[in-house]
Amino acid sequence: MRLLIMGAPGAGKGTQAPALAAHYAVPAISTGDMFRANVKNGTELGKKVEAVLAAGELVPDSLTEEIVADRLNQDDAANGFLLDGFPRNLHQVEALDAYLAAKGQALDAVVFLDVDSEVLIARLLRRAELEGRADDNEQTIRRRMDIYASETKPLLDHYAAKALLVNVNGIGTVEQVDARVLAAVKEHLAK
Ligand code: AMP
Repeated sequence: MRLLIMGAPGAGKGTQAPALAAHYAVPAISTGDMFRANVKNGTELGKKVEAVLAAGELVPDSLTEEIVADRLNQDDAANGFLLDGFPRNLHQVEALDAYLAAKGQALDAVVFLDVDSEVLIARLLRRAELEGRADDNEQTIRRRMDIYASETKPLLDHYAAKALLVNVNGIGTVEQVDARVLAAVKEHLAK
């Protein structure tokens, strides 16, 4: 099972991903988590991307595509994966398509968590209090929302055209949204 989970910052991708990944027994792979771990551990990559993350900008495609390819090449991803936070622009979509095509693989579904922009901002500001992420401040949130709207949201059309898109209402409790995601993916796969 090869899945993507997409949505605006604060839509709940990272919250819903573990249950979806566990259901299909595939690893949940979050580029944001990988970058944050590198920053925390002070790796070479972490030093390169720290300021980019703090500003809410996108890490350069070359670096991002490389860490994703390295991660997908690990054994636990051989039979499937759930990618969270990648791809985020057209270049990354094309890189992923090329990577999968070269392996004779394809995506099975792209889950889109649909959440109103007002709810998103409220969630991000609350997360800022709870988790203290460096990029959850008002200015950076605005920048991440702008990049999402201009670069990432249009990718939904790409996946809709390939009949991969699964829309899920992302407003509700974690359990409610979890159940909706699983039901919607199941229905999509049965088609
Ligand atoms: P996230 O945890 O998905 O919200 O990602 C946090 C931050 O990591 C983003 O604001 C970017 O700076 C960086 N990042 C995560 N995924 C990507 C990606 N696919 N391309 C470029 N930058 C990314």
